[in-house]
Amino acid sequence: MHPLQAFIAVAGILTNRADLAVYASLSAMSRGRRYPEVPAPTRTEYQRDRDRIVHSTAFRRLVYKTQVFLNHEGDLFRTRLTHSLEVAQLGRSIARSLRIDEDLVEAISLAHDLGHTPFGHAGQDALHGCMAGHGGFEHNLQSLRVVDKLEERYPLFDGLNLSFETREGILKHCSRAHAQQLEDAEPGGVGGRFLRREQPSLEAQLCNLADEIAYNAHDIDDGVRSGLITLAQLREVPLFDQYRHAAQATHPHLNDAAMHRRLLFEAIRLMLSAQVYDVIDATSAALVQAAPDSADAVRQSAPLVMFSDAMREQSTVLKRFLFKNLYRHPQVMETTGRAQQIVRDLFAAYVQAPQEMNPAFAQQANTSDGSVKARAIADFIAGMTDRFAAREHERLTGQRLLD
Ligand code: MG
Repeated sequence: MHPLQAFIAVAGILTNRADLAVYASLSAMSRGRRYPEVPAPTRTEYQRDRDRIVHSTAFRRLVYKTQVFLNHEGDLFRTRLTHSLEVAQLGRSIARSLRIDEDLVEAISLAHDLGHTPFGHAGQDALHGCMAGHGGFEHNLQSLRVVDKLEERYPLFDGLNLSFETREGILKHCSRAHAQQLEDAEPGGVGGRFLRREQPSLEAQLCNLADEIAYNAHDIDDGVRSGLITLAQLREVPLFDQYRHAAQATHPHLNDAAMHRRLLFEAIRLMLSAQVYDVIDATSAALVQAAPDSADAVRQSAPLVMFSDAMREQSTVLKRFLFKNLYRHPQVMETTGRAQQIVRDLFAAYVQAPQEMNPAFAQQANTSDGSVKARAIADFIAGMTDRFAAREHERLTGQRLLD
C-alpha cells in the first residue's frame, strides 16, 4: 500500500464517509471497474471517474455540439458542454443536501451527454434513421459506448474504465432488447436493471432530474435571447409567471423595458431555487418513507428522487410550452431539417467511400459485415462537432447547407 493510502485509510477519509447517508453510493463499496485497477491514493473512485471524463476527448467536443440552437447561430447560447456543467452544478447542490455522493453526481452529469450526435436531437433522429436495420442509434447507449470503447487513452484497455456506478448512471434509458445484449456481453453489468426493472442509485436518479431542471430553465433563457419566444408568451407558463410576478413585486424597477433581461434572469433564478428546494423536500420525504438502508436497497425501491406532485405538473406544462413554441418553432425546424440532411448525406457518402473517414474508423468499416460497417460510420458521425460535420458535408458533397 502506498504510504499516503495507508495514512488515508487510517484517517478514514475515503472509506468512512460520516458526511454521507446510509443510502449514498459509497466509493469503498463500489462494484468496481471492468478492468481492476489499484485504488488512487488521494481520490475516491468517483472523483477519479469525474477526472477521467473531464480529460476525455469526447468531453472537449461538447463545447461545439448543439443543445437546441446550432453553434453558428450565436456564441451565447448553451452548448452541450455548458448544459452539462449546469446539470452538475444543480446536481451537486441537491446531492449535498441529501447527503449523497457529490462526486458521483458530478461524474454522471458531465458524462450524460457524451454520446450526442452533432445538431442535437435532429442529428440523433437522422442517424437513428440511417441505422434502421443495424440496431438503430440511441444517445444514452452511445454515451456508454464512448466511455467503454471509443475513448482511446489507456495502454491496456479501450475506453475510460469507469466504475459500475458511473456507467449505471450514464445509461439512463435502455430498451429491453439492448439491455439483453449488454447483459449477454457483460453479465451482472449495467444492462441488468432494465431487465429486472430496478432503479439506479440515488445519484443517478438525481442527475436525470437535474438534467430536466437545467434544460427547462436555460431553454427559456436561450429562447428569449433568440427572440423566438417572448416574456409575454411565458404568461401561459405558471411556473415561470409566478416568479416573474414575485421578482417584479420585490424589485418594481424591473418593470422598465430596459430591465427585462434582469427580470428574466431573476425569475429564472427564483424558479430554479424553488425546483431545487422542491426536489430536496419531496425526496427527503420519500427517503423517510422508504427508509432504504443501503445504496442497493435504493435499487430495489420505487424511484425516490422526485418533484412533489404539484411541481411535476408545473414542470410538465413548461416542457409542453417549450416543445410547442421553441423546439417546434418554424425557424428551429428549418435548421434542423438541413442538419438532418447533413447527417443523412454524410452517412450515405461514407457507405460508398469509407476511406473518407478517419483511418481508425475506415479500418473498422473495412468489412463485409454491413452492421459492423454501419456502426463504425455511426460512431464516426456521432463523434463530430456541428461545424466539423458541416465542413465535412461540404467537402464530400460540394453543398454548403449551414454557414
Ligand atoms: Mg442533458
